[in-house]
Amino acid sequence: MSDWYQKSVKEVLKELGTDPAQGLSSREAAERLKRNGPNELVERGIKSPWAILWEQLTGIMVVILFIAAIISIFLHEYTDAVVIMVIVVINAILGFTQEYRAEKAMAALKRLAVPTVRVRRDGKVHEVPARDLVSGDIVVFEAGNVVPADCRMVKEFNLRVQEAALTGESEPVEKDVAAIERADAPLGDRHNMAYMGTQITYGRGNGVVVDTGMNTELGNIAEMLQTVGREPTPLQKRLDQLGKKLAVVVVFLVGIVMALGIVRGEDFGVLFLTAISMAVAAVPEGLPAVVTIALALGAQRMLKQHALIRKLPAVESLGSVTVICSDKTGTLTENKMTAVILDVADDRFDLPAMNQDGAAECADPELTTGNPAIHLLLAGSALCNDAVLKADGTTSKCYQAIGDPTEGALVIAAARFDLDKFILDKIFPRKAELPFDSERKRMTTIHRFPVSTPETPEPVQSGWVEAVRNGTPSSYVAFTKGAVDGLIGISTQIWVNGEAVPLDDAWRKRITAANERMTGNGMRVLGLALRPIQNRDLEQLSESVENDLTFVGMIGMIDPARPEARESVAISKTAGIRPIMITGDHPLTAAYIARELGIYSSGPVLTGPDVEKMSVEEMERVVEDVNVYARVSPEHKLKIVTALQNRGEIAAMTGDGVNDAPSLKKSDIGVAMGITGTDVSKEAADMVLLDDNFATIVAAVKEGRVIFDNIRKFIKYTFTSNSAEIWVMLIAPFFGMPLPLLPLQILWINLLTDGLPGLALAVEQPERNIMNRSPFHPKESFFSRGLGTHIIWVGLLMGAVSLGVGYWYWANGRADWQTMVFTTLTMSQMAHAFAIRTGVDSLFTIGVFSNRAMFASVLITFILQYAVVYIPALQGIFSTVSLPPVDFIVTILMSSIVFITVEIEKWFYRRKAARGAFSG
Ligand code: ATP
Repeated sequence: MSDWYQKSVKEVLKELGTDPAQGLSSREAAERLKRNGPNELVERGIKSPWAILWEQLTGIMVVILFIAAIISIFLHEYTDAVVIMVIVVINAILGFTQEYRAEKAMAALKRLAVPTVRVRRDGKVHEVPARDLVSGDIVVFEAGNVVPADCRMVKEFNLRVQEAALTGESEPVEKDVAAIERADAPLGDRHNMAYMGTQITYGRGNGVVVDTGMNTELGNIAEMLQTVGREPTPLQKRLDQLGKKLAVVVVFLVGIVMALGIVRGEDFGVLFLTAISMAVAAVPEGLPAVVTIALALGAQRMLKQHALIRKLPAVESLGSVTVICSDKTGTLTENKMTAVILDVADDRFDLPAMNQDGAAECADPELTTGNPAIHLLLAGSALCNDAVLKADGTTSKCYQAIGDPTEGALVIAAARFDLDKFILDKIFPRKAELPFDSERKRMTTIHRFPVSTPETPEPVQSGWVEAVRNGTPSSYVAFTKGAVDGLIGISTQIWVNGEAVPLDDAWRKRITAANERMTGNGMRVLGLALRPIQNRDLEQLSESVENDLTFVGMIGMIDPARPEARESVAISKTAGIRPIMITGDHPLTAAYIARELGIYSSGPVLTGPDVEKMSVEEMERVVEDVNVYARVSPEHKLKIVTALQNRGEIAAMTGDGVNDAPSLKKSDIGVAMGITGTDVSKEAADMVLLDDNFATIVAAVKEGRVIFDNIRKFIKYTFTSNSAEIWVMLIAPFFGMPLPLLPLQILWINLLTDGLPGLALAVEQPERNIMNRSPFHPKESFFSRGLGTHIIWVGLLMGAVSLGVGYWYWANGRADWQTMVFTTLTMSQMAHAFAIRTGVDSLFTIGVFSNRAMFASVLITFILQYAVVYIPALQGIFSTVSLPPVDFIVTILMSSIVFITVEIEKWFYRRKAARGAFSG
């Protein structure tokens, strides 16, 4: 049904059996949910277990092995065929379980990313997950929401909706509630509908849900509202490419081994299988899967630290971040505002401190002032305000406000003077409003003045009401509160001794000086101005009402810096990451807090208007030296992030408002606020801070580095192991030896070594120096910082040790020489796995048992290898012979050479680091 827009609100409500004031009953909603299913689009992001299994079985390596098994049958090598198939199955099971785990982790994250919606049910407003919405639900909209289902508008106040996702129209559309007669109106013209996936950019309203899930317009075009990214991440793509290049090299080397074998007259069947086994063993086909697992499990760990990852590539980019652009209020500060100074034309009142009592703030006794202007300032600030004062039953004066903390502080300050917002609202009812936005940095509300105020409480009567009325012979007054610098620009008068006098330069100077004194001490300062309003202004309310104002005064508030932010700033600096503050607040306030946190010491502070004037190229020239941006509007953030990126920085950027979405998308890591952020910002973000805390970003960066480090360790491990296998096979013929490893032995090593210890490296603990070194640039080679050299020399060493042992036994005519090569190689790889658990520290510093998964997998590998060498049935399959105990000990001793040399390598690194030269 899509003709809802043609019907009147009444008809729609009747048809859907709902009531706009009450909403559905919860029981009815539950029944409808059962009947019609959840409000979800069909998931494209999550793979079914069957799909995972299918992918495992159709992977190129599995297919090659499959073909190898069939060829073995033709060659009458039945044991080989069976063993190859068993290896295929074990591989598939391992791959399947790992990927399934990763998928489940992703699904859990995705469920968490589902937004909640405010709906009216049983006569009350509840917050429910968007997937629980049913048709007939009354949804409460406000700026910043993403429309959760297709809704018919029931009520609206200046509601504007961005419908680009659906119609391509980039300008927000005004909504109303009237029915549209025209049939077949295109989506963009249905002004009484709000469609799933579109965004409320302004105003408020209510809508009734008419369609949910796949029945919505968005469902029709089968677009995802949001997915946790399923595309291969940049790292996976690069690894994939690397794998392909490596495959070419491997095929070439395998060709050489084959050719040499043929020259030496080896059996063709065996040679053929050897070639296939080598190819399968040497190409790191499991790499992209390991990356997914490491990233997905990493994302789960980040969640425990309050960072919700919405897009998987974010996990790896986090490790490369070079700048973090953070909002101030709430992220670097506590967002616990307290008003401390009231400043009017001829007076200043310092508010005594309050005590924290749980969530409330308490102070005794009640404050008084003989100055009506202070009362006017407080009353106006409490009226032009959306916070709610929560009544506290105790006798002591304890206050708590709900809503925006800046506004809450004002409401509490007024209450301390016995100006209760609840009563003020009754006496001066709000008739219209221009909501706050971060561009104007102010808001305006319009109130009716009572004809007389006989029963109003005393503080309200304290002279200012009469004065305002006398000065404004109209029955309405507009209060505008906002940033002082902006406010004096639109004020022409100032309230002095109960009347409005012209705002001359002397007054302007005095206001600016007082403002700078407060902001210079780190305060957030809000100004209040008023203006009499005529009836006709009310009818056509526009921003032009914010003009020709009478400036009343200022309120200075403190908002302490978060103690943990200071530490996180220090950590990020040693980690080579520059924290940058970008705030809507005054430059002096910003500089004060930034200095307190260690973000800023001296140098330029750029303001929004400065950024506005500069081109991106000009910005590029200064961004490296600016750590504080103040009085910034969301659109400036886009320019800042672009300039930073053009300078090669990898930028994380926070944001909470609707208008922050473009800069969040543009940055390398868009970070939205979980508590104060709008749905729109969360949807645009790569990561959501569930606690709005700067420290969480730094913790996530650290986690990102750990994950990247562990992926690098995995690469170090597999590439070294694989190259060792190739060296053994390649070098042996030059010493006149026959094939040193047989096909099944190669496959066995590959299955064992690439499998368990490799995965155990993915859960390795962070390195001690992880936040003391510069970030990895996303384009930096995998093989940088010593990795490539390590792979080459340790691979060669491992190959030489294994082949050397084999050569000695072979030259002495021992039948167990191949088993010696086979076992020494396996043991060396285990020794290597242990040694590279850390890149710098000794294994004994971090503890042999500190990675239980590693210890267990090495133990299992050891036992299995022992079994293959000593159990007669397996000896037949893997062409091994029992080694006398002394020879088994020789394999262990020889493999310890690898361990010891890698430990020596790390010792050199430590020495270099102590001299300050090591950065890897
Ligand atoms: P940050 O970007 O550091 O988080 P912010 O988000 O608090 O800062 P905005 O909310 O954009 O910044 O506020 C910018 C300015 O707008 C403030 O410095 C203040 O002067 C003014 N302001 C903030 N809140 C209100 C409000 N509720 N009513 C009127 N003016 C406000």
